[in-house]
Amino acid sequence: MFQIAERLARVKPSPTVMLNGRVAELAAQGRSVLSLVAGEPDFDTPEHIKQAAKDAIDRGDTKYTAVNGTPALRAAIARKFERENGLAYKPDEIIVGSGGKQVVYNALMASLSAGDEVIIPAPYWVSYPEMVLLAEATPVIVPCAPEKGFRLDPADLDAAITERTRWVILNSPSNPSGAAYRREELAALAEVLLCHPQVWILTDDIYEHLTYGDFRFTTIAAVEPRLRSRTLTMNGVSKTYCMTGWRIGYAGGPKPLIRAMSAIQSHSTTNACSISQAAAVAALDGPQDFIAGHVAAFARRRDRVAAGLNAIEGLTCRVPEGAFYLFASCEALLGSRAPDGQRITTDEDVALYLLDAAGVGLVHGSAFGCPGYVRLSYAASDEKLDAAIARIGVACAALE
Ligand code: PLP
Repeated sequence: MFQIAERLARVKPSPTVMLNGRVAELAAQGRSVLSLVAGEPDFDTPEHIKQAAKDAIDRGDTKYTAVNGTPALRAAIARKFERENGLAYKPDEIIVGSGGKQVVYNALMASLSAGDEVIIPAPYWVSYPEMVLLAEATPVIVPCAPEKGFRLDPADLDAAITERTRWVILNSPSNPSGAAYRREELAALAEVLLCHPQVWILTDDIYEHLTYGDFRFTTIAAVEPRLRSRTLTMNGVSKTYCMTGWRIGYAGGPKPLIRAMSAIQSHSTTNACSISQAAAVAALDGPQDFIAGHVAAFARRRDRVAAGLNAIEGLTCRVPEGAFYLFASCEALLGSRAPDGQRITTDEDVALYLLDAAGVGLVHGSAFGCPGYVRLSYAASDEKLDAAIARIGVACAALE
């Protein structure tokens, strides 16, 4: 009989994958389903990036590359860190992986042992705690109050730190809340972290460019250079350059950590796809002006969908600084009854009800460590978003 590894037995299957399965099932039955589950831009990869990939194939860039990434891509990443973040990382302080997800995984696998603790502010990206568990360490979840914009309070961070704390994971702008930290908020967290030299900082900056209004992105190693020697600054091309399928993520950090991450990668995927790496060079070095167009479209949709959701009785959401998600409280709906008599008691019941009754796919907040909420992705067309909001409104009004 097949027996799964003990370490895997600690890990939950991805709830978003479960929901996607249910969405696909309903669609296969011929139901009209509007899925707002996906975490990817609905725009196509820009033409000049695709062309760079075609050129790479024609040039014969089809072989293994260096484990930590091609020299050309690491040089382009070093330029990006300097230009956009004011961070000087040398090419040997940079690693490229198959998506930001693999980079985070490598970092945790390379650094954690049983008994180590990792502080994860909630709501969080679903993979952080599961990766910590896979690395046989302990996730320490620190709730971030909606009144504080879902941002980690420095006093709560301080209270969560123990001698066993190895990492704190920051994600700004956040998936799922869209919340992002301003410079002074990062400075306040940095102040706490300066007092705890055993704690490293993993900052997931994958939504860096997707911020709206007057918000200005910055990252913790730039805000507090004294933390640079224990910070891993992670980023990737998936969200900014509409390249989710190309699987390129990267990070800059201290050499010993980068070397350890390379060792893990050398025995798993070896290197990120050579063709995607060539495309990522074109993304980082090429024209950046199209990003403003995407950002304007996302900002418009954010405002429109937030207004639509807030007009529905039972749902409320803040208008977040970045990413492409709205995180709406559905607490007022808990305890209600669906037209078929079914009692709605949890946020998961709300998500399943909206899927079954309205044909709208959302993700329940408890998947992100924050019960009483649902996450909606607005990386979708205006028509789809308008139709989804209308259907959600009708379904919520039918609850008693
Ligand atoms: N980090 C966050 C917060 C994300 O939302 C995602 C993707 O959804 C990733 C990392 C991983 O992105 P990728 O592996 O495509 O680079």
